[in-house]
Amino acid sequence: MPSHLPPDFAATHFLSEDNLSLDLLNSEHFDYRGKRPPQDLLEDAGWLGAWVRRWQLPVTPPPDALALTALRALRALLRGMATKLAAKQPITGEQWEELNALLALSPLYQQVVQDAAGVRLALRPLHPGWMSVVSQVAAAWVDLVAGTPSGRLKVCANPACRWVFLDQSHNQSRRWCRQWACGNLMNVRQHRALRSQGSGRKKDAPERS
Ligand SMILES: [Zn+2]
Repeated sequence: MPSHLPPDFAATHFLSEDNLSLDLLNSEHFDYRGKRPPQDLLEDAGWLGAWVRRWQLPVTPPPDALALTALRALRALLRGMATKLAAKQPITGEQWEELNALLALSPLYQQVVQDAAGVRLALRPLHPGWMSVVSQVAAAWVDLVAGTPSGRLKVCANPACRWVFLDQSHNQSRRWCRQWACGNLMNVRQHRALRSQGSGRKKDAPERS
């Protein structure tokens, strides 16, 4: 890692979509060049610490084995749902049922909260801890899906990358997780493919004139 970058670059770099559930989804990190095996950031202390701080989660890393299993199950489910939405297909009843089962792992109660904005009811986990984080992420995902117009949730167009993001551009034209990474890589590959096709045609052309 070049020394001009902040020491927590690797952790914060992966929290760039500013959504609790998208952070979990992208915590299974795929090498955009397709050269290295996927990296599970749920096992990375730096990433976990940054995620917990960013969302002020009521837990101390690392998660126990049961919570880690639940987080991975939720992540796989969200990946399946995101893939459907990105392909403009509906999320299935079975997928919602599975999400309900994960939400049920952490019962909630209501509490009156008084702050500068006035008085309101807030939902609190009955047993704060990593299992309540699973439920909190699942709820953030439901909010995201409910509040996102169709076509805005996308998977990076580089098939090796699989980064899930929300396209906030006016004409929904964003294709890449990051232009400097996947955008440039895919442009270079396309350019090379066109060039080799071009030279192939030249070779095949009859040698006249
Ligand atoms: Zn990408």
